Amino acid sequence: MAAHGLSKSRIVAWKQCPKRLWLQVHRCDLLDVSDVAERSFQIGYEVGEVAQGLFPEGILMEDGDGLAAALLATQTAIAAHPDRPLFEATFQHDGVLVRADLLVPTPSGYRMVEVKSSASVKPYHLIDCAIQAWVLQHNGLALAALELAHINTAFVYQGDGNYQGLFQHALLDSSVCPLVARVPHWIAEARSTLAGDEPTVATGAQCDDPFECPFKTYCTQDRVQPVQPAYSLDVFTRMRSTTKEALRSQGYGNALDVPAHYLNATQLRIQRVSQTGVAELAPEARYILGGLPYPRYYLDFETINLAVPRWARTSPYSTQVPFQWSCHTEHTAGQLNHAMFLDVSGDDPRRACAKTLVAALGQHGPVFVYFQAFEKGRIAELAALFPDLAPALLAINERVFDLLPLAKAHYYHPVMQGSWSIKAVLPTIAPELDYTQLAVGHGGAAQDAYREIVHPDTPSAAKQALTQGLRDYCALDTMAMVRLAWFLAGAPMQTLPHGAP
Ligand code: SF4
Repeated sequence: MAAHGLSKSRIVAWKQCPKRLWLQVHRCDLLDVSDVAERSFQIGYEVGEVAQGLFPEGILMEDGDGLAAALLATQTAIAAHPDRPLFEATFQHDGVLVRADLLVPTPSGYRMVEVKSSASVKPYHLIDCAIQAWVLQHNGLALAALELAHINTAFVYQGDGNYQGLFQHALLDSSVCPLVARVPHWIAEARSTLAGDEPTVATGAQCDDPFECPFKTYCTQDRVQPVQPAYSLDVFTRMRSTTKEALRSQGYGNALDVPAHYLNATQLRIQRVSQTGVAELAPEARYILGGLPYPRYYLDFETINLAVPRWARTSPYSTQVPFQWSCHTEHTAGQLNHAMFLDVSGDDPRRACAKTLVAALGQHGPVFVYFQAFEKGRIAELAALFPDLAPALLAINERVFDLLPLAKAHYYHPVMQGSWSIKAVLPTIAPELDYTQLAVGHGGAAQDAYREIVHPDTPSAAKQALTQGLRDYCALDTMAMVRLAWFLAGAPMQTLPHGAP
């Protein structure tokens, strides 16, 4: 039987799990690529394009004419332009194909630079680089250095199209060179896997490390689920994993059986409610909320943090740029109206976001949020960016009232399974407000929608549908807070008042 052709990514797949490689080659019909993986591909593509832009003299090896053409083009470029960088240079040795992100010529050979969208060097990057170095060396290429270019989160973009500094180059010679000798062994093992029957591998930690495996649906479909207690120890928030392990080793796998002296007050409440099956709402929440004046504002942001900064004074991954806010205003008890800001122009949305926020939130009354560190952090960042708006913005932060600790201290329902996220709480107090019915149903999807809307290739009908999805999602987030506040205050829940979406 002919040896199976391999590539760097196939060998990395085999390193993750032999069964993954086998399925990838023999049963690609079972592939189920998640949204997260799709997003990661897209980000990797964008980052790669920017890296190429930093070397204007570089020559790109197109792969549209097939592998043989790419191999020939690479050899031709090396011979004709030994002083120019190469992108996607293509090499093959012993049936293993690699495409090098970036080769930069130096007097002593090429710098081999692998470009990654992560913010640091990961262990699998070393394997990746070792395979590539092995193939390049067997093609007679002198390598002056083995480098990994990853995102430098300290980089601050100035908005001028200059991305010098976006990448941090890590020199990997000392960690990759010892691995290069192991590459022939990996290749032989990978080929042996492919030549055999489907490997038997139990699902485990490897299914998400270093990547989410696209065969998880297949591998888990027939799995007999172990009998779990109705309440596993995972309902105990903030319990250390070592404590959970110790409890399990003593036979306490069921949260209902754990002796009280292991539990803090919150965990005891979770256990008590789980045992009785009856939700608890402490009256203190009503007194606290009853002391707050009107108008009351319920505020939520949607933000985007990009790998490749798009706007001046933003940094990769670390700057959360608010492109949307939703605010329900309760003028008097039960009397609501709704306001929203959403900028999908692709321009920097921050100044308009800040100005509209100041205008919408008035000067008095509590501003309810759910997890104040996030909203207060974004408002403080806007204040630092726009000194003329800073007094008004910082005054909003002084009015922020966080509903999360209030809910956590005074409410628990057994269905919440140890979580006070708004999406865990909402089904227990307002099941008709259902995120699963929305086109955009969670924060990650909101970020994806925004990216797609501002992408120049997205058709306008899709943009409109996604924009409406964002509107519905953010409005539901703030309506959920309204309903939670009413619930904690003991207000009747049966009817929606005028103005509610
Ligand atoms: S889901 Fe897990 S066990 Fe199945 S192929 Fe992927 S990594 Fe292997």
